[in-house]
Amino acid sequence: MSWAGDPVWLADVLRAEGLRVIEHAGWRERGHGDFRDIRGVLCHHTGGGGPHDWRIVRDGRPDLAGPLAQLVLEKDGTYRVIAAGVCWHAGAGSWPGWPTDDANFHTIGIEAVSCGRAPFDWTPRQLEAYQRGAAAILRRIGRDADDCVAHREYSSEGKIDPAGLDMTEFRWAVQGFIEGGAPMSAAEVDRIQEFITAFCGPIGSDIKDIREQLCGHEQRDAGQYAGWPQLDGLTLVEAIADIRTRLDKLEQGGAR
Ligand SMILES: [Zn+2]
Repeated sequence: MSWAGDPVWLADVLRAEGLRVIEHAGWRERGHGDFRDIRGVLCHHTGGGGPHDWRIVRDGRPDLAGPLAQLVLEKDGTYRVIAAGVCWHAGAGSWPGWPTDDANFHTIGIEAVSCGRAPFDWTPRQLEAYQRGAAAILRRIGRDADDCVAHREYSSEGKIDPAGLDMTEFRWAVQGFIEGGAPMSAAEVDRIQEFITAFCGPIGSDIKDIREQLCGHEQRDAGQYAGWPQLDGLTLVEAIADIRTRLDKLEQGGAR
């Protein structure tokens, strides 16, 4: 099963995954013609790493007209939806199940903002959004993580992107997100909160009991733990240390 036609659902599908989305004006009409069937996601890095990388993806370069990918993924995990039509991102190459040298008409390109060299500047938020976003798209088109491919894996033109990402691990995570489905519903979050409260409630009262043992209920109730009046304001630990010091002095005096 494959999706046929332009992915006008991109923004909705990413948002439903719990991701932040910026829709660029006119994205539904932007592109170099219409998709055939969509068979996967092709992963790239921008090679820049700054906050304006998306402009090149939308507008293109002197040698290549934009748009250059449907999506840009910012370092903070925000997706910019640039185009719903075909974009020039794949170039020549091949991948099992994809038509050779024709991936632009069959894959959605994600350009992730990164400098593309060591020391790598990927952020945890960005990587999770990368995997979640790819998973959301693949789930939508009825494909699995085998169709989440690095440009360097597909390309016969020596591409290296996205540099610094292990695609075996990446696909493993993507598959997990595909199978994990959409983010938790409010009811699920409530259930987990109840579970935590049920377990942490007894721990909370244990801590209160310990404080009362150490400092007495008056100080506990007052929320102050300065020390015991009977010990001239010392805490238990301070009082024991004081006793040890005095004992040491007595022993030294006896040995003399
Ligand atoms: Zn690329």
